[in-house]
Amino acid sequence: MNRVESLLEELKNSLRDNQVSQNGTLLEQHSHDESYHKPSPPDIVTFPESTKDVETIVKIANAYDCPVVPYGLGTSLEGHVIPYDQGITVDFSEMNQVLDVRESDFLVKVQPGVTRSQLNKELKKYGLFFSVDPGADATLGGMAATNASGTTSVRYGVMRDQVRDLEVVLADGEVIHTGNLAQKSASGYNLNSLFVGSEGTLGCITELTLKVYGIPEHIVAARASFLSVDDAVEAVVSTLQAGVPIARVELVDEPSMKQANLFSETNYKEEPTLFLEFHGNEPGLKHDVEFTQEIVKDHNCEEIYFEDDNAARNRLWEARHNLAYAYIHGNPGKKLMVTDVCVPISELAGAIRHARESIDSLALNGGILGHVGDGNYHILLMMDLDDPDEVKKAEQLNEQIVEYALEKGGTCTGEHGVGVGKMKYQEKEHGPALKVMEKIKHALDPAGRLNPHKLVHNREETL
Ligand SMILES: Cc1cc2nc3c(=O)[nH]c(=O)nc-3n(C[C@H](O)[C@H](O)[C@H](O)COP(=O)(O)OP(=O)(O)OC[C@H]3O[C@@H](n4cnc5c(N)ncnc54)[C@H](O)[C@@H]3O)c2cc1C
Repeated sequence: MNRVESLLEELKNSLRDNQVSQNGTLLEQHSHDESYHKPSPPDIVTFPESTKDVETIVKIANAYDCPVVPYGLGTSLEGHVIPYDQGITVDFSEMNQVLDVRESDFLVKVQPGVTRSQLNKELKKYGLFFSVDPGADATLGGMAATNASGTTSVRYGVMRDQVRDLEVVLADGEVIHTGNLAQKSASGYNLNSLFVGSEGTLGCITELTLKVYGIPEHIVAARASFLSVDDAVEAVVSTLQAGVPIARVELVDEPSMKQANLFSETNYKEEPTLFLEFHGNEPGLKHDVEFTQEIVKDHNCEEIYFEDDNAARNRLWEARHNLAYAYIHGNPGKKLMVTDVCVPISELAGAIRHARESIDSLALNGGILGHVGDGNYHILLMMDLDDPDEVKKAEQLNEQIVEYALEKGGTCTGEHGVGVGKMKYQEKEHGPALKVMEKIKHALDPAGRLNPHKLVHNREETL
């Protein structure tokens, strides 16, 4: 019996049969994420149903000196879940219970495999909602592990702002809690923040306590089209500077509006567009909406439509959320590459101008969109992986966009995370602080078994 066969047998002896698999389709499914990064299958996929199961898997993996890769839904975009050293993928889809809704504390306790739409369906019964909404219907464990954000982060903050406590199984199998239920705490190092965004490299998240919000009394959405992307971006900056508490503000450029119309069967104007949303009570919103109308007009807004009907609002946001899928379906056979920089808001207009010039000068076809209220924007490129020239140009574009963002005091990734794709920029972005991150990784996972070759290099690679 070889090592993987013995490992499989031990896992099967310790878990139930249907929790451990070497099925070819499952191995393939867990060999990739939604990106262009090269796939590689794990040896074994496991489906824990409890923290105890995760503890067992990690301890067995240690005994076999075998890598462990946590897996939510595989929607990440920088190769995060690809098991390059094979080993065990831990798929959290069976840990999918909403455990406790503490209405009066505005907190919810969930297992990591709960998806954001599943959680919102449950919270709706209590008049509550969870704010973070990445384009994919990701799991909350995966979202915490990547510090995800979405269209509402301009108002409610990113994943890191929502996490009150995590239960984590560490590399040695020990179970810890990183926080508590209190609104604030000055007690010790902030371990919540350390584990949020750690991309499965420091531990497996087995439970999350998250902040939730009351569903606003009144919601108004708007769609504003502009003559140029520059005008749209300047309008966002002016609106934020004027202190209008926008709940969502998303930029979609002209090529992306075309893709959205094709995919979502909408007939929105195919011009640079801002999708906006305002939350509050009726009199307050009336004032915010009027003020925004005045501001966007000063920035050559061609037309602005407001939607307070629920169905029209949902259609609008569905079109925005489906944009990446619109590109994927509109370009069969090609793979998605998404840039993801974030810059200080004052640098946003210049950054997007530079992005468009870079796309055009490399003769690539790419759409620009993003959570512009946070200074975070993406270029969506569909690449033919069999065309080395196209791949080279796409990589060159990504590099130019990152270099520009770093020069302006920004970051190489606003929300998608590092995975394998952004590791090459870590030294430039963090300088000597990267060594601190490596020391943390080596202190918590000395053997480098948790999601190896992601975020920071394994010890032998840094020596
Ligand atoms: C169409 C599309 C649109 C997107 N839009 C956005 C967006 O607007 N904003 C945004 O932030 N992201 C966006 N993303 C990226 C993606 O949805 C996020 O990165 C998401 O947070 C990943 O969640 P997941 O459940 O799919 O995790 P996975 O992809 O399965 O895993 C992601 C990482 O988390 C780790 N992980 C997963 N579960 C756990 C756990 N329980 N414990 C420890 N580590 C774990 C994995 O090891 C991996 O490193 C988009 C992706 C797509 C395909």
